[in-house]
Amino acid sequence: MSALLESDSASADVEHLLCSVLECDRSYLFTWPERELDRIQVDRFNRLFQRRNAGEPIAHITGSRGFWSFDLTVNEHTLIPRADTEVLVEWALELDLPPNARVADLGTGSGAIALALAVENPQWEVVASDRILEAVDLAKANAKRLGIHNVSVVHGRWFEPLSDCFDLVVSNPPYIDPADPHLVTGDLRFEPQSALTSPESGMADLHHIIKSAPAALNPGGWLLLEHGYDQAEAVVDQMVSVGFEHVKTRNDYGANPRITGGRWRNSC
Ligand code: GLN
Repeated sequence: MSALLESDSASADVEHLLCSVLECDRSYLFTWPERELDRIQVDRFNRLFQRRNAGEPIAHITGSRGFWSFDLTVNEHTLIPRADTEVLVEWALELDLPPNARVADLGTGSGAIALALAVENPQWEVVASDRILEAVDLAKANAKRLGIHNVSVVHGRWFEPLSDCFDLVVSNPPYIDPADPHLVTGDLRFEPQSALTSPESGMADLHHIIKSAPAALNPGGWLLLEHGYDQAEAVVDQMVSVGFEHVKTRNDYGANPRITGGRWRNSC
């Protein structure tokens, strides 16, 4: 059976493709149900349909994915933003941070988290890092297109290109075990390994960030991390053992423990 017919998002996928062909939003499809596609649009739809049928993610076919309150341009060089990551954004926005907080988003990819935080808090100064040059270019382009000026995107691994201390550090690092069988199924096949997998059963990058964060946090600063559904206990243990306080985990929209955060007590 084809990927599209097997997909539990088949009707939503078709709507996305139609909207892409018609350059409209979803409500247009329901407002003008009697409208017919012309020959060129039918051909274009069929080409997109074939790609989806071969398994390619909708976000790669249409070149964009909605996240938070905006659409991000996405491509094959970064992770496709997931709705679950909005739980991290919501938590960050609830924290009692200084009005002109300095925030770092490590491994920003398309810029999703950094841009959501920056758009909600125009007074915050957000720095986003990524070691993949194409991701840096993509995040910069998204910031520019969305007119978000309080984000700067820098090239380098995790904290390496950053020199300041921060009131908040956030990251959705790669955390999938390289041996996880899901990597060869579904949309994950089309996303870069660099954004998905990490050694030590997926824990190596999370661990590196947790160990390095204290040196980059202001007193009372927060670290919020997205991780795998079965990694919460290990992340909590590591954060507590390096000295974070108020360490807690929140569930994603599928009720999996997905985001863990804690507060740094000392100065950096
Ligand atoms: N949440 C993604 C997934 O499970 C993986 C994201 C990541 O590795 N950071 O498909």
